[in-house]
Amino acid sequence: MEQKSTKQKLVTVTGSTFTSFVIWDLLTKAFEAYQQLDHSKRHFQTSMWEHGHASAAIVLTVISIEAYRNGICYLSRRAVSRGAYAVPIDLSDVLLIGDDRFPAERFKNLLAEMFVVRDVIVHNHIYEVEVTSDEHWEMVRHEQKLLKGYGRDAKYSACVNDRTRRTKLLRLNVQPAKMGFEDLFKMLITFDLFVGVTENLLGKGYVPASVQYQIEDRWVRNVSEVLTHYLGKVTNQRFIAEVAKLSAYLRKDFANFLPPMAKWDWFITNICPSCSSPGFFKKRGQYSCSKCGAAIRTSQG
Ligand SMILES: [Zn+2]
Repeated sequence: MEQKSTKQKLVTVTGSTFTSFVIWDLLTKAFEAYQQLDHSKRHFQTSMWEHGHASAAIVLTVISIEAYRNGICYLSRRAVSRGAYAVPIDLSDVLLIGDDRFPAERFKNLLAEMFVVRDVIVHNHIYEVEVTSDEHWEMVRHEQKLLKGYGRDAKYSACVNDRTRRTKLLRLNVQPAKMGFEDLFKMLITFDLFVGVTENLLGKGYVPASVQYQIEDRWVRNVSEVLTHYLGKVTNQRFIAEVAKLSAYLRKDFANFLPPMAKWDWFITNICPSCSSPGFFKKRGQYSCSKCGAAIRTSQG
């Protein structure tokens, strides 16, 4: 009997799995080390453990965005661009076609900062650092110099504040030794935004970024839920304030471009109705503000 053969057509968007399940264990490990740190003291660098896990997750998150760009261009029959800003340009252009009011230039700049940070890790920028400590080994000051030949391209210069060695909008560290949980967290806020605006302006099939991750006894559904869980555990008040500021900043420009129905599914719109602190909806049946105490009573368990 003649054997029947079948052909299937697959489109491979390989990096997309990283943000579905690979990065979450890395985030958890980075967070454990981050919580050990005494945040009342100044530190020049994060621990190797925190840095290693966070920077691996940062690279994988940015690779995911690039993978989704390729998938989006394939589905919308566009050629992918080349060059320094290729992915941020392609994505913001496609979103602008989806809605001509979309603040594409601002979105492009956010993505560009994420690619700058990826470059720092992937191309291994080398700094010379001199740290001065007092008699208790606590850091008093430090000086640092990026060695010649590393990273000073146009994109880096446009995105980075030279004095703080952080990117201008997301305030991501570009000094590799400082990169850690906080940088990863802010990148994931932006990734969550990317998923949301893409879903709303292009349709659900383009970035099917479902999260498969278990926290304690439950499976979380999306990036925002993971972020809310960890924000609720962060003890560093300075960072909690920074997250609130970033969330407000992004909300002002982009909230109107997220899917209109489920505002608590997206980190920047999951805010307290009373004081606007992030992380209001925690999980099924838990709607409360850790800052002002506002709560919604619900009969769901
Ligand atoms: Zn509140």
